[in-house]
Amino acid sequence: MVDAFDATSTQETEAPMTPGELVIHYRRIIEISHQLSSTYDHMSLLKKIVSAARELIHTEAASILLLDEATGQLRFAMASNIKPHEMEEIAVPLEGSIAGWIVSHGEPRVIEDLSKERSHYQGVDNRIGFHSRNLLGVPMRTHKKIIGVMQAMNKENNKRFTDDDIITLRTLAGQAATAIENARLFQQSDFIAEMVHELRTPLAALKASTTLLQRPDLPDTKRSDIITTMRGETERLISLTDDFLNVARLESGRIQLTVAPFEINKLLTECVDVVLQQANEKNISIVIEENGYSAEADRGKVKQVLLNLLTNAIKYNRPDGKITLHVEPAQEHEHPFVQISVADTGYGIPREHQKNMFQKFFRVPTTENVARGTGLGLTICKHIAEAHGGRIWLESEQDVGSTFFFTVPLAD
Ligand code: ADP
Repeated sequence: MVDAFDATSTQETEAPMTPGELVIHYRRIIEISHQLSSTYDHMSLLKKIVSAARELIHTEAASILLLDEATGQLRFAMASNIKPHEMEEIAVPLEGSIAGWIVSHGEPRVIEDLSKERSHYQGVDNRIGFHSRNLLGVPMRTHKKIIGVMQAMNKENNKRFTDDDIITLRTLAGQAATAIENARLFQQSDFIAEMVHELRTPLAALKASTTLLQRPDLPDTKRSDIITTMRGETERLISLTDDFLNVARLESGRIQLTVAPFEINKLLTECVDVVLQQANEKNISIVIEENGYSAEADRGKVKQVLLNLLTNAIKYNRPDGKITLHVEPAQEHEHPFVQISVADTGYGIPREHQKNMFQKFFRVPTTENVARGTGLGLTICKHIAEAHGGRIWLESEQDVGSTFFFTVPLAD
């Protein structure tokens, strides 16, 4: 294993651990493993694993990068030296990066002097203002495949990485890989169970309707009512499957954005036209407050967000209510963005439920019977806003109304 070390380096070689030190070291690993096995939330688990790596290997920083198979890039899942919002924006290429090499070869790698390493990808250091001097990286393996890389950077006191460090990081990387795989499996089975549950209701209604239609004594008026019900249920099935597909695609990162500049005002008018009839049925007025901004985004996807928010603002509004669409400039990570909001004068959302609004299948219990829905619309909106580097959030007061805000990049 020592062959992997960079022989030209001037760092001190760490003296091997004495038997006593070894016992303390491995006891600490076991202690940490116990702590990890009682942590169920996978993000806090990854955080603990990263800080354990720093502690046991004595490095300035440690991180976990996961392979995004759709784009063939590595993305940070956890890093001790990068802020969460920055992690989302950084992608490390598989080709021409050390982490990429580790994933493709499935082997650990020690680089004692990164300044001499041609394949060191500088993008991350430049972005976060961190100077990586040396690095130990190991692949993260599940029982099926390599899903990412765990790295420890800048060994303290100018020391070299040791074989024990490699073993320690491999142990922690194995635990991180299992945690991630479990979280993925759990999410998938949850989603499939909910999805099947949601599909069963309209399917049961369709089945009951066909049985009724077969009755020879059925009056014609009743027959036409049943057909109307069947049409409604079929439409619901179509919109449910569309939502499921959208969520599944967005979650797997398989959706490509087609980004181009467009005038926001035109898009807003187009969206209002789509929902106008629905708004008129409840005598809800819609006002647009816009000042000629253009966005640099995927127009179709932004339209999807707006239609979702507008439909909700109608569904969960009172008769004779009002909806205001407002556009103003904003900043995200010091980049010019535009903030679009949809405000209604409806039931509002109780404070205790506000934090759950963007979770899959979440519906506010008090408005569940007001309108039909899947509880997926806002999840889709969140994915779309975030895919653009933007955000989505809400402000709401019960019995007064809700305002949903989202940001997308502003065009030059
Ligand atoms: P759906 O409307 O299909 O149920 P969403 O994800 O769009 O799914 O919304 C989730 C839930 O959030 C809704 O069921 C509703 O309870 C609540 N909600 C969404 N928008 C509003 C709104 N403008 N006012 C009040 N409640 C809302």
